[in-house]
Amino acid sequence: MNLILQHSSLADLYEKVEAGTRITEADALRLLESKDLAALGALANLARRRRVGDRASYIVNRYLNYSNYCILSCQFCAFARKKRDTNGFELTVEEMVEKAREALRLGITELHIVGGLHPSLPFEYYTGLLRALKALDPRLQLKCFTAIEILHLAWLAGLTLPEVLQELKAAGLDALTGGGAEIFNHAVRQAIARGKESAVEYLDVHRTWHQMGGRSTCTMLYGHVESWLTGWTTCANCARSRTRRTAL
Ligand code: SF4
Repeated sequence: MNLILQHSSLADLYEKVEAGTRITEADALRLLESKDLAALGALANLARRRRVGDRASYIVNRYLNYSNYCILSCQFCAFARKKRDTNGFELTVEEMVEKAREALRLGITELHIVGGLHPSLPFEYYTGLLRALKALDPRLQLKCFTAIEILHLAWLAGLTLPEVLQELKAAGLDALTGGGAEIFNHAVRQAIARGKESAVEYLDVHRTWHQMGGRSTCTMLYGHVESWLTGWTTCANCARSRTRRTAL
């Protein structure tokens, strides 16, 4: 154990982390509430080394929004616009392809594409967009859409969740983005994103995608109205219990 940890109140967690034992909720709360950044960093570094040693990697990607129009009005959202707003936008497939072409010239290997829940773009816009981008370079990784966008597209196309994911995959979708996970707690979601998908629905989208062999990320939005106890630890438990379907 290094000196930083030896003198830290988190020293007892060292053995658990070194052995790869899963920490408890109480441990997680202690870590979250700790102000001992040096010890937290040392523990995180230990956990990282255990998993991947000195291997590190990165990608160069471009983040693109096809539109900021959205039929929802999540309380925390500063991105969405209504059609009546003067600063809303939507890009054609050709405009998106041009942006991707520029980014490819700069050496990107991935596009990260999300938008709002557009009120009128047809489903064919999304599949056409994926096909056109893939045609630019088949090696280009297309990481697109949040879980709520996928649910919106399923509704738009009149397809089930597996069917819409299959259609998007066939058009070129490689991975889902993690947006929308926020905090997996009903009260918190009601406060920040009423009307958006529930935690169960979010996890269903990602679980279905993973069962099809897909990959995705998961984006936690924290530091707002959630408390560590009701929010983050529920979140962590929910994410690691992939089959959990209780009220969240
Ligand atoms: S669904 Fe997404 S874009 Fe629409 S209001 Fe909510 S956070 Fe904003």
